[in-house]
Amino acid sequence: MIEGAGALRQDFAIDTGTRLCAVIGHPVGHSLSPAMHNAAFQAMGLNYVYLAFDVADVGACLGGMRALRGFRGMSVTIPHKMAVMPHLDEVDEMARRVGCVNTVTCEDGRLLGTVTDGLGTLRAFADAGVSLRGRRILFTGAGGAVRAVAFAMADAAPEQITLLGRTPEKVASLAEDLRGETGVTVRTGALDDAVPELDGHDILVQGTPIGMHGHDEGRSAVPGGRLRPDHVVFDMVYRPRRTRLLEDARAAGCVTIEGLEMLLNQAALQFERWTGLTAPSTVMRRALESALSV
Ligand code: NAP
Repeated sequence: MIEGAGALRQDFAIDTGTRLCAVIGHPVGHSLSPAMHNAAFQAMGLNYVYLAFDVADVGACLGGMRALRGFRGMSVTIPHKMAVMPHLDEVDEMARRVGCVNTVTCEDGRLLGTVTDGLGTLRAFADAGVSLRGRRILFTGAGGAVRAVAFAMADAAPEQITLLGRTPEKVASLAEDLRGETGVTVRTGALDDAVPELDGHDILVQGTPIGMHGHDEGRSAVPGGRLRPDHVVFDMVYRPRRTRLLEDARAAGCVTIEGLEMLLNQAALQFERWTGLTAPSTVMRRALESALSV
C-alpha cells in the first residue's frame, strides 16, 4: 500500500496531497479511462485525480512524471505503448513478452511498467464462468490487442491456440513468439478460414476492428451460421457494445463476452496497482457504460 492511498475523505477538493494518474497517447480525446478512474477514486474516497494528456515526446513526458512527487500512475495508449518501454526503470515479465506497456506505476521515483489487457481479459472470462484450460481458442487478427490477450491465455493451459489474420507475416511472427515464450501449441491460417475453423474450436476471440463503429459497423468478422451453442464468443470491439458477431452468437445460444469487459477489467487492474485496493467494478462499469452511451 502506498503512503496516502488509504487516506479516505469526504470531499473531493484537489489539494496538495492529491495523487496524479493520467492517460498519455495521441490522440486521447476519445479515452474512456478518465471516466472510469475518476468515478472509482471518488467512490472509494481517494485523494486521486486522473487526467488525459496528448503527448508527442514520450521521453520528456516520462522524465517530467518521474520528477513529480505526486505522480502515481499512468495508462499508456496508442501510439506510445512500445515507445515508453526504454524510458522505464523496470518492465515486468508479461510486458516484456507482449512487447508493450499500458500501465506505469511510480514507486519511490522508479517507473514500473506492465500490461493489463491480457490479465484483464482473463478476469472477464473468469467472471463469465469460462475456463480456458484444455480449450481450443481461435483468434481473428494479430495486432497489439490479440498479442496481449494471446500471451495471457497461453498461460492458462489451453489445448491449442489458432491465429487467423490477413497479413501472413504478422500472424507467423506472433505465432513464433507465442510458441517460443510459452510452449503453447499454435496453428496459423488466413482470416477467410474463420468460419470453417469454428468447427474445431471452443472459444472465438475476435481481435480485428471489423464491426466497429466508424469502421464497418454491422459487418461480422465471422459471418454465417456455424456458431454452436457451446461456443464462447468474445469480441474485443466495444463500440458498439453489441456487435453483429455478438448478436449472431447470442442468437445461436453461445456464451458471449463484450469488448467492454476487457476495457473495464484492464482498468480495474490498473486501479488496484495504483491504490492497493480492490477496484469498485460496479462503479467503474456504470461510468464506462455512461461514457459509451454518448
Ligand atoms: P492493431 O494493432 O491495429 O491490429 C489490428 C488487427 O486487425 C491486425 O491484425 C490487422 O491486420 C487486423 N485488421 C484491421 N483491419 C482489418 C480488416 N478490415 N480486415 C481484416 N483484418 C483487419 O489494433 P489492436 O490494438 O490490436 O485493436 C484491434 C481491435 O481490438 C480494435 O477493434 C480495437 O478497438 C479493439 N481493442 C479493444 C480493447 C478493449 O479493451 N476492449 C483494447 C484494445 C483494442 P493487419 O496486420 O493485416 O493490418
